[in-house]
Amino acid sequence: MPEHDYRAYAIRYGHRDNVPAHEAFHRPHAAPADGMDYFVWLVTDGQRSVVVDTGFAEAEGTRRGRKFLRSPDRGLAELGVDAARVEHVVLTHFHYDHIGGQALFPNATFYVQEEEMRFYTGPGASLPVIRESIYLPDVVSLLSANYAGRVQFVDGDREILPGVWVHKASGHTPGMQFVSLETPRGRAVLTSDASHYYANMEEANAFNTFVDLAGVFRGHARIREIASQPELIVPGHDPLVLERLTRVADGIVQL
Ligand SMILES: [Zn+2]
Repeated sequence: MPEHDYRAYAIRYGHRDNVPAHEAFHRPHAAPADGMDYFVWLVTDGQRSVVVDTGFAEAEGTRRGRKFLRSPDRGLAELGVDAARVEHVVLTHFHYDHIGGQALFPNATFYVQEEEMRFYTGPGASLPVIRESIYLPDVVSLLSANYAGRVQFVDGDREILPGVWVHKASGHTPGMQFVSLETPRGRAVLTSDASHYYANMEEANAFNTFVDLAGVFRGHARIREIASQPELIVPGHDPLVLERLTRVADGIVQL
């Protein structure tokens, strides 16, 4: 038996129809059949919880043509978790669809990679191709959280709770990080955008947004190394997650 007994939940909060193949895959590939889902994740052993990412701000997601299906805190409430009382929130990277709901977690400490903060507050951030994935008010609010002592900076890998880790995987963004957790079946990985779709990893065909293509593949290798079995790898945006994992409520599945 593993020492820790965490469960992970994927909570769908948004959706995008019609994702073109050239956006989802760097090399020729069919377009994703069901577009793209947007998730936040909950890791819990019933006592302690970590929330992974906070979703997009409704207005910003809508402006980009994404459907906002529900506020992430509503999904957490269905699992008995009060977002306002959550203490640990991992922000996997700074793209608009991952750090927009910070205000839902007024008592949380946010765990970010130091390099991600440095990059998106530094000289490269103003490049149009870089800033187009960012919603500036989200970054500003994270700066405010830091000045309030609510940001923990990670450089590489770190254990957030006993048995729950973050792992740096530069590639999609400079300070991209994914999460691993000990479950009764072994170590599981929530990849977030280190692999958007199952097919990105399975077919070694990167999602077509990255700052370091070789880094994306190093990330895939690291995920495989850490996960006890391939079935325990949960990609970041794939609608198939809702089919392959165990349904517990509408748009919520458990690993
Ligand atoms: Zn994303």
